[in-house]
Amino acid sequence: MHKPLTALLTIAIATAAFAAKSNAPKIDPEKIRAHVKYLASDELEGRGMNQKGGDLAAEYIAAQFKSYGLKPAGENGTYFQRVPMVAVQTLPDTNFTLVPKSGSPLDLKPLDDYVATNERQTPSIDIDAPIVFVGYGISAPEYHWDDYKGYDLKGKVALLFVNEPNSDDPNFFKGKALTYYGRWTYKFEETARRGAIATLIIHRADLASYPWTVVRNSWGGEKSFLQLDDTPKLAAASWIQEEVARKLVGIAGLDLDKLFQQSQSRDFKPIPLPVDLKAHIASSVRPYSSRNVLAMVQGSDAARKSEAILYTAHYDHFGIDKSKPAGQNIFHGAADNATGCGIILELGRVWAETKPAPSRSILFSAVTAEEQGLLGSEYLGKHVKQLPVQPILDLNYDDLPPIGIPEEVEVTGAERTTFYSTVQEVAKQFSLTIKPDSRPEAGHYYRSDHFSLGRVGIPAFSVSEGMKYQGHDIAWGQAEAKDYVEHRYHQPSDIYTPDMDFRGDALMAEFGYALAQKAANAATTPAWLPGDEFEHAREKTAEASPRPNASGK
Ligand SMILES: [Zn+2]
Repeated sequence: MHKPLTALLTIAIATAAFAAKSNAPKIDPEKIRAHVKYLASDELEGRGMNQKGGDLAAEYIAAQFKSYGLKPAGENGTYFQRVPMVAVQTLPDTNFTLVPKSGSPLDLKPLDDYVATNERQTPSIDIDAPIVFVGYGISAPEYHWDDYKGYDLKGKVALLFVNEPNSDDPNFFKGKALTYYGRWTYKFEETARRGAIATLIIHRADLASYPWTVVRNSWGGEKSFLQLDDTPKLAAASWIQEEVARKLVGIAGLDLDKLFQQSQSRDFKPIPLPVDLKAHIASSVRPYSSRNVLAMVQGSDAARKSEAILYTAHYDHFGIDKSKPAGQNIFHGAADNATGCGIILELGRVWAETKPAPSRSILFSAVTAEEQGLLGSEYLGKHVKQLPVQPILDLNYDDLPPIGIPEEVEVTGAERTTFYSTVQEVAKQFSLTIKPDSRPEAGHYYRSDHFSLGRVGIPAFSVSEGMKYQGHDIAWGQAEAKDYVEHRYHQPSDIYTPDMDFRGDALMAEFGYALAQKAANAATTPAWLPGDEFEHAREKTAEASPRPNASGK
């Protein structure tokens, strides 16, 4: 595009956006509150997959969409897309024993010492195999990094650290930022591809960026998977406590801290340990299906209405933990992610009232099974061609604290797309400072549903609040975030309270409305920047069918 035209377009777009902002139907924070209050109530039982609460939540969201006049965008003229899944729960007669070549075996205590899930979706499986320490378990040709050095993992148990080699160099594992190689999902996928029977991830709170309680709560109960395809899977996908790992390598006369140091080196080679894992994993295995909820506003331009701006927010949470006493066993998930649902519902209402409709269509999806590993959005991404309109951009909302009016916005990932200049312009209009990822080392980009769309080539990012709120300093926002992570995140205490302030969530919805307004009317469609890890993902997705469940980078 020529420069003068760009300048003209920019002015035209800015003017249109200003008009759009001032004339747009108003987002109502109290409507968002009402959705959050209901979705996080005891009646919804924590919106668990394969539980009554999850179904109630999906029904509620679909009914709301319908009441606004949005069109169904699911299968067979419905608001739903069926997601075939399997619920696997590790049963109490599971046992994990570390058996040294000499000396006495060490029995591990479930939940305190380890969590494990049989990804192969069978009721019973036995493991008796040698343990091999593989450092970070990463094979990353673009960084000239290979922890395996040709070592054959077939039939072995991989022991490894979560995260990736330490670096400040932006060209080496993106410096402080976490790449997909550092994610636990990658570890399980990569070791399974290499034939491992089991994988033990060593939990270190600093490396994982969350404490053991999060692992325990996320893995201790029933876990869901997409129904098996031909992707290799582990008989035991497991996390172990740091202290257990210390004992385990101690049996071999090794020191965990020294092993960690060794893992920072390109020269690292796998270290077979004189210890076997002897395990029996008993699981209840129940196939079921869950649902993504899909609704849309039809675009007004005949040539462009087949393309859509997609909003996503996951509606699932951890449901009821029936092993705990009544009254303290519901994972309410108010912030995570009744807030995101409240936001896309309110966006749905407002978009339905927007006349005339934008050129492109607007698509809404409340997705399932995010907490189980982004499964609902993964299914959505894999089956995107079956949707009535094709998403060209995904704006995701996940866990937006209702604590007041933010003066910052986080849009991590947007800077990797051609849409970023528009994002900057809209942020300016809203007097929002774009905050760089507050904790790039936590790899948030790979931890919410936009990633499922990103990895199939659709420019995608989450919209969320930064740390600076009106009337407070940044330290206040940081303290709030810390308090949330320590006391409520993924715990039954993430409840709705009447003192919550939804004006910030409403502002984030307005911001997302303005972004979609621009994208929906723009002359061009957004794309990943050249050289981005997702730049060619769309072509690959079109070629590879069925796409493997577990493709890495
Ligand atoms: Zn969550």
